[in-house]
Amino acid sequence: MLKVLKFGGTSVGTLERIQNVAKIIKNIRDDGHDIIAVVSAMSGETNKLIEYANTFSSNPSNKEMDMLLSSGERVTSALLSIALNEDGYKTTSMSGREVGIFTTNEHTNARIESIDTSNMQESIAQGNIIIVAGFQGVSVNTSRVTTLGRGGSDLSAVAIAGAIAADICEIYTDVDGIYTTDPRIEPKAKKMDKISYDEMLELASLGAKVLQNRSVEMAKKLNVNLVSRSSFTPEVEGTLITKEENIMEAPIVSGIALDKNQIRVGLYKVSDKPGIAASIFQTLANSNINVDMIVQTIAVDGKADLDFTISTGDLEKTQKAMETFKDDVEKIDYNEAVCKVSIVGVGMKSHTGVASKAFLAMANENINIRIISTSEIKISMIIDEKYAELAVRSLHDVYELDK
Ligand code: ASP
Ligand code: MG
Repeated sequence: MLKVLKFGGTSVGTLERIQNVAKIIKNIRDDGHDIIAVVSAMSGETNKLIEYANTFSSNPSNKEMDMLLSSGERVTSALLSIALNEDGYKTTSMSGREVGIFTTNEHTNARIESIDTSNMQESIAQGNIIIVAGFQGVSVNTSRVTTLGRGGSDLSAVAIAGAIAADICEIYTDVDGIYTTDPRIEPKAKKMDKISYDEMLELASLGAKVLQNRSVEMAKKLNVNLVSRSSFTPEVEGTLITKEENIMEAPIVSGIALDKNQIRVGLYKVSDKPGIAASIFQTLANSNINVDMIVQTIAVDGKADLDFTISTGDLEKTQKAMETFKDDVEKIDYNEAVCKVSIVGVGMKSHTGVASKAFLAMANENINIRIISTSEIKISMIIDEKYAELAVRSLHDVYELDK
């Protein structure tokens, strides 16, 4: 098999841990597989470099930042290659340029345009294990080094796996997979064996520290089988993230996600006239504010209430944007003490009674649901933040996710 392995910052955080990663790679190699290993910078390294730059300038050039930040990953790739070499394994480290990752010119947040795999193919054919410096590419236009945005080495790994048609892309972090919910909230949470791309994207909050969302989207697009597993317990099989068709018996509900990073914006008595919603949400979009849930009540006397949620970081921008609508609205309030709990599962497409079960669970705990929204594979509820953990535990319980 051709395996792409990706080791995150914590997995290569010390020299000892780099040695541990070398051991994992050796074992996989001894089993007869071809390997492309993509590495992050040692943990904390990227932040340290940003701090260094900020001591000289509060607004350093993005082009220089890419030159600076891409160095972190290069250090790890070279060290890992040296460690493996020392033990008699044939290896070569490669920068983004050598790997053939061509990107747009948006420094510090470049998008991958294409990957020329010929260099990698040749090197594998010569018997090398390739150790790739993640998170970086080269601008098609200028040939300057670019980086792919924070957490971008996941993206490097998935894109390479897709381009070279690897059999699997294993993402190693310090957790051993994706759980049915956050084990710190519900100790009975279980590691899932398999989950679909769409479920993983909806459960982003559970995977946030494990997998960069952009990389899951790319895995879906390129049909890359992803595995989330731990470099600290490599003997434990992780969670496979794959296409829905590959999951034989999907549970009705796969997991419960919690997002505390929500603010509910209530617009009371909005004039009920054509175009008002369009102009409100256009204004928000123009200010780059991401709106999550939206509900409008039935109009009474030519006025309707409009509620939507935004993420915590966007509060000030939203308040400013809403000034425009002072005269169209009787009152605007911002409730920060809310959270969103979501029940996710592809199986709910073909089952009835999934939503009522959730609402009953909330009723039994005396939790008031403020906003509900549903999609084919998700039911989300906005509730008071003080009930967040209780809600997660009771939902985990009613859908028997601990079984
Ligand atoms: N080192 C980069 C970061 O910290 C990329 C990565 O680790 O994926 O964002
Ligand atoms: Mg990362």
